[in-house]
Amino acid sequence: MRTPNPHLYIPVEFRDEDLIVHVASSWAMLIDKVREYRERNSKPAGDPEKEIFAQVCDRNPSQCRDTTKDSVLPTDDLHKRILRWVSDRVEERAKLKFVGESEARERAAICSACVRLRPWRNACGACAKTADKLVREVLGDRVIFSQSRGCASLREDPRLSVWLNKPRVRGNLPGNCWRKE
Ligand code: SF4
Repeated sequence: MRTPNPHLYIPVEFRDEDLIVHVASSWAMLIDKVREYRERNSKPAGDPEKEIFAQVCDRNPSQCRDTTKDSVLPTDDLHKRILRWVSDRVEERAKLKFVGESEARERAAICSACVRLRPWRNACGACAKTADKLVREVLGDRVIFSQSRGCASLREDPRLSVWLNKPRVRGNLPGNCWRKE
């Protein structure tokens, strides 16, 4: 896959199919923004990461380079993204639906062996403490399956995500990912 060279400046923006232009301050945020926009407006999920990089690299061929999928995962601000994701779940707590413990356990086992996991806790101790508290708050007395790393593809905290009954998503996810559509 061709992706923007992080050492060169390229405007972080994407023109969606309905001609809406999304702008963000990082590629990770742009991917999230497009994903959330489509979900909120009941549009087909598509594959935001792939579509964004394809469009940007088409527009700026000399500022892109070939990279492996894993090396482009946006992990630089993972701690912020995960904390925000957990905080958003607290906000929507009243509407959240949970799966049963055996399903959550199976999902956690898949996540624990996944190549997309990345460490994030050391980047911000305060963020980690806050996320721990919020995850416990949302899960109540449900089991927290041991997982100190975060999902770099979805920027989610698997301790909480494995319990949630959320729609599957399309995108650049490993073949055995339980979130993959
Ligand atoms: S949600 Fe999917 S991509 Fe993310 S860590 Fe779990 S298995 Fe891997």
